Amino acid sequence: MYTANLERMKDKIKTFSQYGDAGHGGITRYSLSPEAVMARNEFKKRMEAIGAKIEVDDVANMYATIPGSDPDAKRIVMASHVDSVRNGGNYDGILGVMSAMEVLETVVEKKIPHKHPLTAMIWTNEEGSLYPPAMMCSGIVCYDYLPEEIRTGFVYDDMMKSKSIIDHTTTFGEALDKSGFKGDKKYRLSPDNYYCYFETHIEQGPILEDNGNDVGVVDCVLGMFNYTLKFYGQTTHAGTFPMPKRRDAFYAASQALIYLHDEIDKLGYPELVYTTGELETHPNVHTCVPDYFEFSFDCRHEDPQVLDKVLAIVKSCADKEWAGCKCEVVKAWNRDTVYWNKTLVSYVKESCEELGVSHQYIHSGAGHDAQFASYVLPATMIFVQSKDGLSHCEPEYSSPEHCTEGASVMLNAVLKVDEKGL
Ligand SMILES: [Zn+2]
Repeated sequence: MYTANLERMKDKIKTFSQYGDAGHGGITRYSLSPEAVMARNEFKKRMEAIGAKIEVDDVANMYATIPGSDPDAKRIVMASHVDSVRNGGNYDGILGVMSAMEVLETVVEKKIPHKHPLTAMIWTNEEGSLYPPAMMCSGIVCYDYLPEEIRTGFVYDDMMKSKSIIDHTTTFGEALDKSGFKGDKKYRLSPDNYYCYFETHIEQGPILEDNGNDVGVVDCVLGMFNYTLKFYGQTTHAGTFPMPKRRDAFYAASQALIYLHDEIDKLGYPELVYTTGELETHPNVHTCVPDYFEFSFDCRHEDPQVLDKVLAIVKSCADKEWAGCKCEVVKAWNRDTVYWNKTLVSYVKESCEELGVSHQYIHSGAGHDAQFASYVLPATMIFVQSKDGLSHCEPEYSSPEHCTEGASVMLNAVLKVDEKGL
């Protein structure tokens, strides 16, 4: 068994945390921003230092590759992203890139024999926090392999026109041209020259920590649906109109939300998660009764039958009147549960066992680039414990020891698939 280098990992964590340092423990590093370019240059510098060849595709995804002993073997790729949300943490995404770098560095340093070329990769614009949507460039690169209803959200020309959420003018395409990282389409990840895909990521939840496990052997990304519930009432003056005659859309929506929680909780699935995180109201004036209110409803579970049961409850809201208001239920999008390649999952598990790393099977509740990559290549993920389960915020933290363990697990799983195949 081989292990990654704790001191080298600590140095990477410290170095990358400077790029976009927001001054209070976290980073803001939007895709293709000057801060993200610094992180990319650091990646390039460190990978060139170990003799890796750097390639960049047409949407700025970066690939650093060291050769293997078999000139005909396809590449094994380890990837994640260097961009962050606004005031995000020092681990989401970048840990997967640092772990991939660490694998290559360890292989070169220890002269570990391997047949396949090994590639560390950066996906562009995973968060979509400046230029929506999330997972934009894995969506573009994996486009031909994605299910029809997912791929319609990632048409190349549409993505290039995605506008900055800050200035509402600059497009992703313009930022890409300016970044200096627009390369050649021929370097895109594809099954012609890649064999399989790994992504190490922080868990972004509390399950590993609560169970006292350092590493998660991820088996799937949960299926989910996202709907919008819209409520239509009548606006009028807040001071003059009697309560019994009102059709208050906000009040209607609040009753429906409580109904949803009550009915869904009665189903009794402990692993089911659902969230209302986005809302809109009209006229949004404190002296007016709201005539319109809408809220989002995001629901995730592994089993499609469970999702169907919840969806039936959500849809039933449209059959009822809520405080005199009509309700409309509109689908935004959904995705099926994506299972990782079973052989790769078993190599990750074996590596944990052989290294003596405490671990467990875990599902991913969040979406990752690996999810799209899995339509192109056999893929899997490794999770590293997140302190207090926090992510997408500045207190996000994973210890250097846990991060290094994650890299060691990926290293050994990569060597297993290199030797034994899929
Ligand atoms: Zn991420």
